[in-house]
Amino acid sequence: MSETIFSKIISREIPADIVYEDELALAFKDINPQAPFHCLIIPKKAIATVNDIRKEDREIVGHLYYVAGEIAREHGFANEGYRVVMNCNEFGGQTVYHIHVHMLAGKPLGWPPY
Ligand code: C5P
Repeated sequence: MSETIFSKIISREIPADIVYEDELALAFKDINPQAPFHCLIIPKKAIATVNDIRKEDREIVGHLYYVAGEIAREHGFANEGYRVVMNCNEFGGQTVYHIHVHMLAGKPLGWPPY
């Protein structure tokens, strides 16, 4: 699959405010935050959309949600709550074709997201 800006963040060609990293995942602050705390949790493996997640990727994708919980605990959001969401393709609002979990925290969030 073609490179996206997120591959360049993983390889440090482009700077980002990194909040978590391990062998499978990277998390960094969104440059256009939609909440007091807004980070993106991405797999190091480039997977374009939710549609492209394969059976062998299940551990990686599950790991992204584990990381969300770790970040929430570390930053003090675990009890008050937060949102984790992945957008897919045009109607889902996806603009970067490397899957990412948006983690939004720090205020009550509206629902549904019209
Ligand atoms: O779900 P969607 O694909 O629209 O999300 C992409 C997100 O990536 C946006 O929230 C955008 O602000 C963020 N972004 C970023 N750093 C970049 C490019 C995009 O945080 N260099």
